[in-house]
Amino acid sequence: MKKHAACILLMLLAVVMNATTSSGQIKTDSETWSIAIHGGAGGDAANWDAKKKELRLVGMRKALSKGKEMLSSGASALDVVEAVITILEDDASFNAGKGSVLNQAGKAELDASIMNGANLACGAVAGVTVVKNPIQVARSVMEETPHVLLVSQGAEEFAKKSGAVQVDPSYFLSSVLRTRDNPVDGNRTTAREDKHYGTVGCVVRDQHGNLAAGTSTGGTSKKLAGRVGDSPLVGAGTYADNRFAAVSGTGIGEEYIRNAAAYDVIAQMRYASTSLEDAVDEMINNRLPDQSGGLIAVDRDGKIVMQHNTPSMSCGSASSDGLFEVRLDAFPARESVDKPQ
Ligand code: ASP
Repeated sequence: MKKHAACILLMLLAVVMNATTSSGQIKTDSETWSIAIHGGAGGDAANWDAKKKELRLVGMRKALSKGKEMLSSGASALDVVEAVITILEDDASFNAGKGSVLNQAGKAELDASIMNGANLACGAVAGVTVVKNPIQVARSVMEETPHVLLVSQGAEEFAKKSGAVQVDPSYFLSSVLRTRDNPVDGNRTTAREDKHYGTVGCVVRDQHGNLAAGTSTGGTSKKLAGRVGDSPLVGAGTYADNRFAAVSGTGIGEEYIRNAAAYDVIAQMRYASTSLEDAVDEMINNRLPDQSGGLIAVDRDGKIVMQHNTPSMSCGSASSDGLFEVRLDAFPARESVDKPQ
């Protein structure tokens, strides 16, 4: 009798430990974690010079190492997404934060969003010009206001009040950027090859079973002043829901907005029980126009999927199974990266 009761107790314990609550908070007994990052899709890395390739790889390795360190010591998915994207924003070789591209008025206007898969909380900023780390302000919007998205001046006033580091707009005119966008220094790479690539994103499944996603960008180079892309739009460039997956996109924002790309991946999983792999594949190969960009995603079990329909996407992935990889080259269409078994 005693043995029988103990058995029932154990079974109940297992159910409770793996249950998903109504808020989406997944209770899990697993200590596994997974993280994926991107540093933009587009162009062809095969045409980049060795220095540019190295800068990208070093930058992604640094960000991914930080994510790995935090996740293995039990940090939350949300904290990891913010910390990793902050590192990428401070690295001028990406089109986010310091390295942001310029619009037609010669100004950097930055966009970012972050989402917590545990409760669907999310925050975003768009069109900010004096904020050093837009991802941090996006998180403050999420946690300190009843709103989801603040834009331009209002976002900047809020950022100041919330204690975010302010910079002079000249901070964004980094040497990498001047070379990239300003033909007057005579050192510009071809417009086609080096146009607007380098948006950054991060998706995480932490040890506690929680998912989070974030994306940050300077947008597309030579965009009209005031143009806002997909990156700060929850559902287009970023989405996370503990019951399904966390997703971040990079590419021609207008296409991601039209296709509600990040949320559509979740919707396929939710309404058609599609696997993450098939949902991302459908979006990249059947919905988004060819050459429009890529997606990174992680599902509730920690499975990582990264795909693009451009020649290259800078990306990296790591997991508690020992995976740690950064790369610039293409994953051929219809191939995804699995965690090692
Ligand atoms: N999606 C970004 C935007 O349209 C740009 C990019 O990812 O390259 O603003």
